[in-house]
Amino acid sequence: MSYDVLSMRWNARRDAEGNLIVSAHQETSIDGVYAAGDLVPGLNQIAVASAEAALAATDIHRRLRALESPER
Ligand SMILES: Cc1cc2nc3c(=O)[nH]c(=O)nc-3n(C[C@H](O)[C@H](O)[C@H](O)COP(=O)(O)OP(=O)(O)OC[C@H]3O[C@@H](n4cnc5c(N)ncnc54)[C@H](O)[C@@H]3O)c2cc1C
Repeated sequence: MSYDVLSMRWNARRDAEGNLIVSAHQETSIDGVYAAGDLVPGLNQIAVASAEAALAATDIHRRLRALESPER
């Protein structure tokens, strides 16, 4: 999904520079939609994008596990 669709059609929150605002787990203002890399605030480097992707993947995994086993 492109940045334009997220930010304009779905109205995801952005900062003054136009970057998508994300939580500590890389979730955008749209529930269940995550972003990482150059379209979020921060240093535009491959290592940073990879780390952000790992944070997002971990949170997505946690949420999916919680759906499978709500008692956890
Ligand atoms: C010239 C240059 C040199 C750099 N050198 C370094 C360096 O030495 N070390 C370093 O750490 N970082 C470097 N960077 C920065 C690094 O490339 C980026 O920070 C990193 O690639 C960001 O990853 P990303 O996944 O956010 O975006 P990208 O790597 O740009 O990936 C986004 C992908 O999405 C695709 N895409 C876009 N729109 C759509 C759409 N609508 N539908 C489907 N696909 C779409 C694009 O084609 C692209 O493949 C450099 C950047 C540039 C421009």
